[in-house]
Amino acid sequence: MNNRLGLHANVWVAGWSDEEAIRAIDKTAEFGFDLIEISAMAPHLMNIDLTRKRLEQAGIGVTMSLGLDAEKDISSLDPDRVRAGEAHLMDVVSTARDIGATHVCGILYSAFQKYSEPATSAGVASSIEVMARVAEKAAASGITLGMEVVNRYETNMINTATQAVEYCRRVGAPNVKVHLDVYHMNIEEADAVAAIQATGDYLGYFHTGESHRGYMGTGSIDLKSMFQALARIGYAGPITYESFSSRVVGQPLTGILGIWRETWEDGDDLVRHAKMYTQSQMIAARNAVSRKSSLA
Ligand code: MN
Repeated sequence: MNNRLGLHANVWVAGWSDEEAIRAIDKTAEFGFDLIEISAMAPHLMNIDLTRKRLEQAGIGVTMSLGLDAEKDISSLDPDRVRAGEAHLMDVVSTARDIGATHVCGILYSAFQKYSEPATSAGVASSIEVMARVAEKAAASGITLGMEVVNRYETNMINTATQAVEYCRRVGAPNVKVHLDVYHMNIEEADAVAAIQATGDYLGYFHTGESHRGYMGTGSIDLKSMFQALARIGYAGPITYESFSSRVVGQPLTGILGIWRETWEDGDDLVRHAKMYTQSQMIAARNAVSRKSSLA
C-alpha cells in the first residue's frame, strides 16, 4: 500500500480565513501528511490564490469535501432546490480546479441532514442526472467525485457501499467513485470488509477514524481488517483521517455532527498518533496480504 495520506482540515480549524488556511496547511505538512482535505461548504469565501500558493510552498496536495444543505438538495422533488444544488456543485468544482484539488467528495448526491422520509426513485433519478453533468465538468480538470456513504442520520439515499456502487454505475462516468468511511460503515454495513471488497475498483476515496470519531484504535472498529481489505483490492487512492472536536469546529458543525462528548484536547498529539497508526496499519496490511506462505 502506497496511498497518499490525508488529514481533514477541521482537526485544526473551523473555517478558511487566510490565517486559518495558513495554519491548517502548514500544520498538515509539518506532521507529514501528503494532502489536506478542505471543507467546501462556502467556496466563495476562500482565498484561492493564497490557498494555492501556500499548498505549493508546503508541498502537499489538496482535496475538498462537503454536504449539500436542504436548499441545495439535488435529490429534492423541488426543481429550484435541484438547480441551486447543481449550481453549488459546479462552483465547488471550479474552486477545486483553481486550488489544484484532485478530489471533491462527501454528501454530494443529497442534503447532509436527517430526513424524515425515505429517498424516492424520482429523487434518485434527479440526483443521478445532475451528477452526470457535474462529473463532466470535473473530468475536464481531472477531478474525481467521491460519493460518501454515510449513516441514516446524515442522508436517506446512500447508506451502504452496495447502494453507492449502484449509484455510480447509473451515473456511468469514470470519475464518479465511491467514498467509504469506517465510522459510517460501522453503523450501517453488515460486514465492512465485504463492503470494501464488493466496492473494488469503484472505491475512489477513503476516510479513516473511529466508532466515536476520536483516536484511532480506541474505539470498536476493526481497523486491521479494514486496511487488509484495502490492500487486498489494491486500493491506491487517498486515505484521509477525520476527527472532530466541538472546541475546534464550533457551530453549526457541532450540532450537525452531534459532537456531545470530546474525544481529544491536543490536536497535535491526535494527528501525530493518527499518522503513525495509519502507516503501521498499512505496512502490516501490505505484508499480510502479499506474503502468502507456501509449502517448501
Ligand atoms: Mn467521512
